[in-house]
Formats: sequence, structure tokens, C-alpha cells
Amino acid sequence: MLPGFKSQVCHIDEITGETLAIDFTVAAPTEVTLLNVEPEKRVGEVVVDLIGRVGDYTLAIYFTHPGRTSPLSNQITLGDRCGLIKLSLDNFYAHIAGAKKQEESYSAALRRFLEKDVLSKMWLHHPRYLRKKQQAEMELGKRVSAVRSERLAETSFSCGECGHTWVGPASKSKCSRCNSHLYSFRNEKT
Ligand SMILES: [Zn+2]
Repeated sequence: MLPGFKSQVCHIDEITGETLAIDFTVAAPTEVTLLNVEPEKRVGEVVVDLIGRVGDYTLAIYFTHPGRTSPLSNQITLGDRCGLIKLSLDNFYAHIAGAKKQEESYSAALRRFLEKDVLSKMWLHHPRYLRKKQQAEMELGKRVSAVRSERLAETSFSCGECGHTWVGPASKSKCSRCNSHLYSFRNEKT
């Protein structure tokens, strides 16, 4: 069982400091079968603990435990045919202790842990990540330019009735003070 993978791209507005963010899903949790499993293989820059095939993809697994941290995901360049999962063994001893009580064999307990435990697994690299991120960035770019053009469309108004002045989009041409728009006029920004 592999965990899902969600991420986010965001843009901080250089004028207002507001953050526009888009969440995207790289993968939903899925059940896979790992074939042709081999221990200790190098993939890209990383020597991983297990490697196997899932369909046309390579899936690599890296074990971590207290004292052994994972490679940083920004140091991994594995491309779009290979995924890398971090599997934390921090909870493994508790899992084994529980298995002993149930008189489950060590290898069966290990297998069950590798197969079923989702919370201990985390994607370090997903083959679809880059493509999904690019899609989200395109969507974000569209929203950023929509915000920019809305801002450019802002107009200065001054009310002919009460003299109140304000800046806003063309749709806000009504004076907020005297509620009149009959006398408000627009000065297009230059
Ligand atoms: Zn007014």
C-alpha cells in the first residue's frame, strides 16, 4: 500500500504580500505489487534499500530510523519513470512486539509492515510530481495574471456629490459615503 501525495505551489504578491496557493494531488493512495525486488541498489544519486518494478515504473524504497535520515527530496533527480518512497522504521519495533503477542512469525510481521503500514511511508520522489507541479504552476500563473489585470483595471473615483475619493475596480463606482453614483466620475489610471 502506497500513501497518497499532495503538494502545493504558491505565489507571493510583490505589492500586497498576499499569497495565492494552489494545492494539487500527485497521487491517491494505491495498492501496488512490487516485482523483481532487489536489495541495495543505486538509483540516481541515492543508494536505496529495496528496488522493484511496478508496471513500467521502478519503485525504490529507502529505510529511515532514528540516526538515519533520508536523502533530501530536492537532491533527488529521478525523472518520470522512477519513484522513491521513504519508509520509516521508527514504529517497526512496536509492530514486531505486537506481532509476537499474536504469535506471528518475524518474516510475516515484516511483510505485513512493508505492505500495510501507510503512515510510515512517504513519497520522496513521485514520477508524476513534475508534470503535476507544472500543471499547477500554469493554473497559478493564470490566477496571478488575472489578479494583476484586475488591479490594473482599478480606477480612481471622486464623488461629485460629497467629494469623497476612492480607488477600486470599475464595478465599485458607487460612492460608499453618500451612496450616489450619479455624480461619481472616473479618472483612468495612467
Ligand atoms: Zn459621495
